[in-house]
Amino acid sequence: MQRSLPGCQTADMTYLQSGTGSAHITMAATPSPAEIRSIVEHDPRWAAIVTRDRRADATFFYSVKTTGIYCRPWCGARRPNPANVQFHETAAGAERAGFRPCRRCHPDRSPEDREHVARVAHACRALESGDETPSLATLARHAGLSPHHFHRVFKAATGVTPREYAAAHRAKRVRQALGRDGASITDAIYAAGFNSSGRFYEAAADTIGMTPSAYRSGGLQAEIRFAVAQCSLGSILVARSEKGICAILLGDDPDALVRDLQDTFPKAALIGGDRAFEQMVARVIGFVEKPDAGLDLPLDIRGTAFQQRVWQALRRVPAGKTVSYAELARRIGAASSIRAVARACAANTIAIAIPCHRVVRTDGSLSGYRWGVDRKRRLLQREGGS
Ligand SMILES: [Zn+2]
Repeated sequence: MQRSLPGCQTADMTYLQSGTGSAHITMAATPSPAEIRSIVEHDPRWAAIVTRDRRADATFFYSVKTTGIYCRPWCGARRPNPANVQFHETAAGAERAGFRPCRRCHPDRSPEDREHVARVAHACRALESGDETPSLATLARHAGLSPHHFHRVFKAATGVTPREYAAAHRAKRVRQALGRDGASITDAIYAAGFNSSGRFYEAAADTIGMTPSAYRSGGLQAEIRFAVAQCSLGSILVARSEKGICAILLGDDPDALVRDLQDTFPKAALIGGDRAFEQMVARVIGFVEKPDAGLDLPLDIRGTAFQQRVWQALRRVPAGKTVSYAELARRIGAASSIRAVARACAANTIAIAIPCHRVVRTDGSLSGYRWGVDRKRRLLQREGGS
């Protein structure tokens, strides 16, 4: 039902007739209808709201008491009842008054911000193409910003620096190219978009931590030393590459553990550990018996970028605590990837040092464990967890 107010003939008043339809002011200390009329007629801000005038952008913001939201003058949202409206000079002022930004007109983003998002997207495309990573100065010049400012804007929009972005993208191309069956490493270099093998090897060393041929040949070209021993959880196999511990396997049958190691590193030269190695194994066993003491040995953690994120997050779960797959997924910023997180946990080859035994179902029940649920239960009991 439309309600017309006597004496309202200006265009500014149309919203009163077609808007919420309520001209009754019931709140205490709010203007009377006559006062509202006067405000609307004389305040040019209302003219901007009524005509959705983009030229008024950022000259002021308005909030609506009944929705708790604030908007830009030109927002396409339903026109508010002036009795509920408050004006703010800045978005920050509206937020201080307790209002949330509208999802439609994004009053919390400055026009520069919106412009910056477009420029960052453009820079991302530039970083993804070709083998020469554009310099910060070049990227900034294309974006029309100073290098310092561009760096800050890029990081704010993507969460990483331009250099990190380029490295992550190159890593992806290297892995994809090397993963292609039958392609030679030379083919892979060009398929990944690199013009020179030198740059490719540099990128490979940066991103997959080894030479392309080592990656191809089953992970580790270098020797892996290993030994099998006994601990309170049964048989334990400890293996170490040049870089650090690359496997801690648990089980009942020592031979099965060695076969598991061979399957995990099919091309590596497996060498039985010597006396010095056995001292290292003793330290690992000490850690397995008392995990909260920590393991003071380097790990050689190999896996996809996603697996590495999951495993790093697991390493931050302290002894005595458990975490659900869903929570772990949330912690690495991949809340919808719960199955992939569970698969990454199951693919862990470094028992206890990457504590996948601290992952339980959301309801607290144990779920699976690569090395047997019974071992998982004993480990958790030992750590005083659930
Ligand atoms: Zn809005």
